[in-house]
Amino acid sequence: MTNIAACCFCQKVRDDRVKRGDGTASWVTRRVYCAKYQLPDTDLTLSHTYCPDCLKRY
Ligand SMILES: [Zn+2]
Repeated sequence: MTNIAACCFCQKVRDDRVKRGDGTASWVTRRVYCAKYQLPDTDLTLSHTYCPDCLKRY
């Protein structure tokens, strides 16, 4: 099982393995994340949170 943080609003997941220039994790869609790490969608345990974009918006 892979535990990842997912945004409740836009459904993006946090990719902790990729850091942006400012040190924050990048956020990608679940489909992109699974394809990137070759993970079956069912193997993900999502912990719901908010991504920085949605935090700003809501
Ligand atoms: Zn979001």
